[in-house]
Amino acid sequence: MSESPVRHFADYRWEETDLLAYKEEGAAPFKAITRQTLFRHPEMKGELRYFEMAPEGYSTLERHQHVHAVLILRGSGQCMVGGQVFDIAQNDLVTIEPMTWHQFRANAGEALGFLCMVNVERDKPQLPTEDERTALAADPKVAKFFA
Ligand code: MN
Repeated sequence: MSESPVRHFADYRWEETDLLAYKEEGAAPFKAITRQTLFRHPEMKGELRYFEMAPEGYSTLERHQHVHAVLILRGSGQCMVGGQVFDIAQNDLVTIEPMTWHQFRANAGEALGFLCMVNVERDKPQLPTEDERTALAADPKVAKFFA
């Protein structure tokens, strides 16, 4: 943590904050996405991160017991939550309940960036089996979202 309580922001980077890979390469399917951990403190059980996808980027399709509160900070795109597809844009808030399949896609021709609040101690995300993915894609809107 920096000495100053203020870390200035420019072009979706916060000073004194590392720009990290989204996940370890090969850990799960994802594309063109970066991560910055903005806030983490021993006195708090949550942490605040910023994720950004380049155009056509996407997060991993996953589910887990821990919850997310996601605030779209930049751009637009779509998310799939629990088998439903939603258009999302700046300042929209998306909540992800436990064990709900979710994925974010920058599929509107621009970058998509969002803040994500999450527990520091959390279970490992589960990836869908081929059958689970196929079942989700039975909905034409979800199939189009995956394509
Ligand atoms: Mn997740």
